[in-house]
Amino acid sequence: LVPGGVALLRLTDFQQGTEVYFDNQRVAVVPVQDSWLALAGIGLSKKPGEYQFSIRRSDGLTVNSTVEVKYKAYEEQHLTIKNKRKVNPNKTDMERISRERERKQAAKTHWSDTYPEVDFIWPVNGEISSIFGLRRFFNEQERNPHNGLDIAAAEGTPVQVAADGTVIETGDFFFSGNMVYVDHGQGLISLYAHLSRIDVKPGDRLKRGDILGAVGQTGRVTGAHLHFAVMTNGVLVDPLYLLPEKQPNAPVQLSGGDQ
Ligand code: ZN
Repeated sequence: LVPGGVALLRLTDFQQGTEVYFDNQRVAVVPVQDSWLALAGIGLSKKPGEYQFSIRRSDGLTVNSTVEVKYKAYEEQHLTIKNKRKVNPNKTDMERISRERERKQAAKTHWSDTYPEVDFIWPVNGEISSIFGLRRFFNEQERNPHNGLDIAAAEGTPVQVAADGTVIETGDFFFSGNMVYVDHGQGLISLYAHLSRIDVKPGDRLKRGDILGAVGQTGRVTGAHLHFAVMTNGVLVDPLYLLPEKQPNAPVQLSGGDQ
């Protein structure tokens, strides 16, 4: 277990109404084949050390289980952005960014009781142009680490939703460009950024594979790609933990990227 990763705990004797907490934050419970798993996202900022799962049954019985989070070193990535305002926003931009931060926070921490099917598909096929967790330097200035997976694809390529869910937020954001958030249930959320167009609106129910928009280069980017991110219990985790290994076949290349 590492920062940016996912801690899984098998729940024997799971009963509806049981709530699971990790480090005192409610986490997702998901059905997997014949059993139930608690799925806890470990934020990139989590310090190495021991943390506790707490399984709270509706009849009052609580069981605790301790896990250890280890240190992980993430590599650096240096990118040059031509539009300097996307690196050093002006006062008007800062006001916009601050308003958008509130919307993003609300989407990120959204909770619905539905139990999600965690059978994600790749939202687009393409080469991975940037992996999760890289320490980002834009025009040699350090910014937040890369909190998603960049998949390079031609502008206009349709983007599919990774799993069944409901659209909870869409819009044009300063750094992320055109972006869609989809709620899968139990705090598991997926996000699709830098889209050239958005084909859905909040409240739309989507089936896995439905098209929600198209690949673009809106927001802070160096080229057309999809920034795909996954949040659970309010923290961003490496999407590769949830995606099938199959796609893409191409080797990982650290050539381009975005926010
Ligand atoms: Zn990205």
